Amino acid sequence: MTRQSLKKAILSGRRITPGEALALFDWDLPALGRAADHRRRLVWPDDTVGFIVDRIINYSNRCEALCRFCAFHARGGQIPGYDMTPEEIIAKVKDLVEAGGTQVMLQGGLHPDWPLQTHLELAREVKRHFPDITLHSFSPAEIIHLAQRESCSTDTVVAQLKAAGVDSVPGASDLLVDRVRREVSPKKCTTTEWIAVIESLHRHGMKSSATMTYGLGETLAERIEHLRVVREVQDRTGILRAFIPWSFSPARTELAALPKATGMDYLKIVAIGRIFLDNVIHIQAGWLTEGAKLAQLALAMGANDMGGVLTEERVVKATGVETQMTRDAMISLIRGAGRIPVQRNSNYEEIRRFA
Ligand code: SF4
Repeated sequence: MTRQSLKKAILSGRRITPGEALALFDWDLPALGRAADHRRRLVWPDDTVGFIVDRIINYSNRCEALCRFCAFHARGGQIPGYDMTPEEIIAKVKDLVEAGGTQVMLQGGLHPDWPLQTHLELAREVKRHFPDITLHSFSPAEIIHLAQRESCSTDTVVAQLKAAGVDSVPGASDLLVDRVRREVSPKKCTTTEWIAVIESLHRHGMKSSATMTYGLGETLAERIEHLRVVREVQDRTGILRAFIPWSFSPARTELAALPKATGMDYLKIVAIGRIFLDNVIHIQAGWLTEGAKLAQLALAMGANDMGGVLTEERVVKATGVETQMTRDAMISLIRGAGRIPVQRNSNYEEIRRFA
């Protein structure tokens, strides 16, 4: 297929193949951005850009997975081991609620000592104090870990988390290519297991998202393979509310020798993600990992959401990346891109528009 006919196919809204997506890495950035922005308008025609006031609470950094790309887990040596108490967690949620926040992300690792019951009690405790807060918490890898630990099915874990008050589960997908997973996170769930969790969440009426961590030594074809897995599972379930790519930050990890992904890499993956994932409405710009200025540019490359105004985050911070953003800074960032800022809830419904 010529570049001209591929461009025509993209503008017509036709689903593109993995081979066509791979060819897009050779396009120059302005042409790719225009094509992606066109595709964004097909599914998100207005000029609003959403953000959510939320808080990531990294309740523990004790983790059995010991992923080579992680500087957060206790044995990574960057942060001493810790477990937060329920009281500490509740105090953090209280701060969030008082600041007008609507969503909490409880995120830890594959805890070596905590059974499923501890996770359930944590969720129940948050919901007992704050019944209106949305718990977008835990991860597919934790669900697989807990199912193995309790010798029960993934469905059982998902059902119990839901009954305890968990509303949705972040995708935390890393890179869904087993060759890469075996090298960088061999103790974490496989691609097939990740898919099984998404399908289980679907059976239980819960939503999720898909992330993508690239720059782990994968090929460009493997980046597209990740997108293919996401698109196919979304075709079957429709529960992925957003796609959130971010680059791996090698500093302070076992993979520090890997080259750091560039801004061009990031903008291309945002644009190609928008064009390829024709069944995912929201593409999130990752200010947390890419910085505010690059995230702002991503709004011209197919992104239509800025994610959370995080009031606390430790996993990315452990790699040395600064992770502060205020609501006012977020609003002016979106306005600066010529778009309309909208505070949204976890379902991507408008709470307040800052026209
Ligand atoms: S990335 Fe998550 S699962 Fe892997 S070592 Fe870090 S905390 Fe554990």
